[in-house]
Amino acid sequence: MAITQFWKKKSQEEIEEIVFGALDANINYQNQVILGIPASYLDGQVFNQDASFLKNAPFISTLVQNPNHIGCHTLGHSEPFFQGTQNIEKDLIEICAVDILKGKAYEQDGYVASGGTEANIQAIWVYRNYFINEKKAKAEDICILCSEDSHYSMDKAANLLTLDIRKVPVDFNTRSVNELEITEVIEKAKQDGKKHFIVVCNMMTTMFGSVDNIDAYTNALTEAKVDYNLHIDGAYGGFYYPFTDEKSKLTFENKHITSFTLDAHKMAQAPYGTGIFLIRKGWIQNANTKASYVEGEDFTLIGSRSGANAVAVWMILSKNGPHGWFEKTYILQKRTEWMCQNLKSLDIAFYRHPCSNIITMRAEHVHPEVANRFGLVPDNHNDPKWFKIVIMEHVTIEKLSLLIEDLKLKTKIELS
Ligand SMILES: *Cc1c(COP(=O)(O)O)cnc(C)c1O
Repeated sequence: MAITQFWKKKSQEEIEEIVFGALDANINYQNQVILGIPASYLDGQVFNQDASFLKNAPFISTLVQNPNHIGCHTLGHSEPFFQGTQNIEKDLIEICAVDILKGKAYEQDGYVASGGTEANIQAIWVYRNYFINEKKAKAEDICILCSEDSHYSMDKAANLLTLDIRKVPVDFNTRSVNELEITEVIEKAKQDGKKHFIVVCNMMTTMFGSVDNIDAYTNALTEAKVDYNLHIDGAYGGFYYPFTDEKSKLTFENKHITSFTLDAHKMAQAPYGTGIFLIRKGWIQNANTKASYVEGEDFTLIGSRSGANAVAVWMILSKNGPHGWFEKTYILQKRTEWMCQNLKSLDIAFYRHPCSNIITMRAEHVHPEVANRFGLVPDNHNDPKWFKIVIMEHVTIEKLSLLIEDLKLKTKIELS
């Protein structure tokens, strides 16, 4: 890890001081006279509001006080009622955009979305509106371009925003896209009248952990002389890949990239509702909705959202610190390598990107009973060709060795 500007490891005491300080800077429904907001603290009959219970629990305290982070807080004005915890969210956005993705300080906007699905749709929405408003495009002149291994949220975006979607095939074994095939898809789209491309490049796919060759996309797009915007889907890989590939080209240093999705509720073990959307300054305005009752308008898809989610992610990153995070991914890489060695010695075919903690085994080498017993996830529930193992915090070598034993047993039975 290079020297971090915003991301500093903090002690539990420091974290509590900052979060409780932020809650003090928010309005307090209990102690103040606040009469105009359609919101309050959590129902006291159900959720314990007892001071001694909440004393050393900054996250639970935030949940109980229930701040609403409606809107985007990295630009313009925001609701003044929740300024304390909004400032924590702003710090979180800088940590992700600058210290993890190598952007320049304060040159990106962003917010904590409901998840990767929303963050991807938000990106595509911004670019669609940009092409329509600034380039006088019609919806039918625009298409989404991604790979066949892309997450199905791209199909949701295409459907909701009434855009065409074109998918580049991937090689069955290497799961990679190549420039030639990208060019073919672009040329076909051009023949069909597409002039503006919303391109989504994967930083670790859900099923394989594969990382798209971004140069293949940008070279093909430049050659084809088409207008495009490029979004990176790091919903799975955003808190992993930047730490395992020192030479990653998927950062804000790459001028072709405008925005990113990261999910803290995948690799970062945060509560659900912690997708992170990041975009270079000057773009999110394309998704502006004049929301007259929200101070500072709304540039987000979601509307009301819990401030506790931003606090949770900020606490997780601050507690670990950048070096702690690097170590976390280092251990998972080591476990993944251990598993790959064992699979090789059993002659079980699998795919794994060298910077990833996902191992996807060819289905013909895995007995369905074994897949079922170990909760391995298929690429397709009706006709599985692959089963994946995701090496998370709880997926220890101890547990992996049980799977190895069962895979061995099954191979023996088949051979005899
Ligand atoms: C999980 C995932 C998504 C969708 O994220 P949700 O948080 O489930 O909405 C999008 N893209 C990729 C690559 C993912 O792994």
